[in-house]
Amino acid sequence: MPRRPTSIDVARSPAESRGFTPEAPCDCRRCPRLAAFLDHHRKAEPVWFNAPVPSFGRDDARLLIVGLAPGLKGANRTGRPFTGDYAGELLYSTLLSYGFAQGTYRADPADGLTLVDCMITNAVRCVPPENKPTPEEIATCRPYFAARLAALPNLRAILALGRIAHDQTLSTLSLKKSAHPFAHGARHSIDPGLSLFDSFHCSRYNTNTGRLTETMFHSVFHAIRASIGHT
Ligand code: SF4
Repeated sequence: MPRRPTSIDVARSPAESRGFTPEAPCDCRRCPRLAAFLDHHRKAEPVWFNAPVPSFGRDDARLLIVGLAPGLKGANRTGRPFTGDYAGELLYSTLLSYGFAQGTYRADPADGLTLVDCMITNAVRCVPPENKPTPEEIATCRPYFAARLAALPNLRAILALGRIAHDQTLSTLSLKKSAHPFAHGARHSIDPGLSLFDSFHCSRYNTNTGRLTETMFHSVFHAIRASIGHT
């Protein structure tokens, strides 16, 4: 009997990834507003990375962490997701605590930190003004995200950091938002052997306002680790 298609099969389908690669080319201009924003910063800050930020981690990862988009002075400056701003301080310290990273995080892509059984990507690969991509930009970048998902053969868990990452994941996998509402700490069963976990984004704003505490963030990783049997 033929195997029932899984959600990841949907991400692999030509309609979703349409021959896109998992990483966007550095000269991608499919989003004119974001391309113009990068052009501006290439002139203003020529030593910054200022390009679509590639995913970081292992192709054999069982855990994929999905952020919103590069931060202007974080990943857009350094070229590595969550590297160089506050969100990375909490994320990487947590990854180190839960065995998903090895080394020392020094907010620098040359710090030698490596990920274990884990990859980090963004729902939108280019920095948006004020951290706010438009719905059209989120949809335009979706084929790269679909290709990213499709290129992770061992994927068991996706962690969405915030609603946009959550919605990008659901849209990519052709799943209904009404069936999988975003909620911090929620676990959505996507397929046998694949779960989507939700967390509030580990931004400075969310931690400063108490919306997300370190304890709350750690509890999500505790659940993920138990779910996939990571040691
Ligand atoms: S956000 Fe994605 S699709 Fe849009 S320009 Fe950047 S890499 Fe290309």
